Amino acid sequence: MNEWNIQSRSRACQACGKPFAGKQPFHTLLFEEKQQYHRLDICIGCWESQYREGASERKGFISQWHGLFQPPPPAPEEPIQKASAESLLRELLQTNDPQHGPVCYILAVMLERKRVLKVKEQLHRPEGRVFIYEHPPSGDLFTIADPNLRLDQLEEVQRNTAHLLAHGLNPPPAPISNVAAEPTPVAVAADAPPPPETEILGAQPS
Ligand SMILES: [Zn+2]
Repeated sequence: MNEWNIQSRSRACQACGKPFAGKQPFHTLLFEEKQQYHRLDICIGCWESQYREGASERKGFISQWHGLFQPPPPAPEEPIQKASAESLLRELLQTNDPQHGPVCYILAVMLERKRVLKVKEQLHRPEGRVFIYEHPPSGDLFTIADPNLRLDQLEEVQRNTAHLLAHGLNPPPAPISNVAAEPTPVAVAADAPPPPETEILGAQPS
């Protein structure tokens, strides 16, 4: 099980705990533990005083880069249910199901071409390549393994991807209870905008 498929950007330095301000520079360090990758977002002060030493030898961490902190983006205006390559990728990664690996890879490549995702690191492992993608607006990191698709497998994976994009991962079954069938009042929805996407995702059962 890989609990590190999607990792959100921290809103505070994970070394000293000080909240990041808008546009504040920070460093992201990537650590590897038992073939899992996890990130640590730290402020410049902590980088200089505690981590920089290791940078030349890449001691302790396998990759690092710096960026400017951006406050989390406002909730998207489009309905969350609308299947997009990005929401589907997030959903599939959270299932932790290896059978979705090839589709995740195809979606990540699609999103990279659309400049929605950026490759931050490419790791060469005995099992194959692993890509660390960043979603710049949210700062989320996605860990995607290269499934090493053969040409004769590619067509089927592309078909599966198109099917999932059109129909979603788990099409909702017909509502069986009154609660589920009740529509959400429009006034309530307008008064209470949905929380940022990361919080919605965090609240989902894994
Ligand atoms: Zn700090």
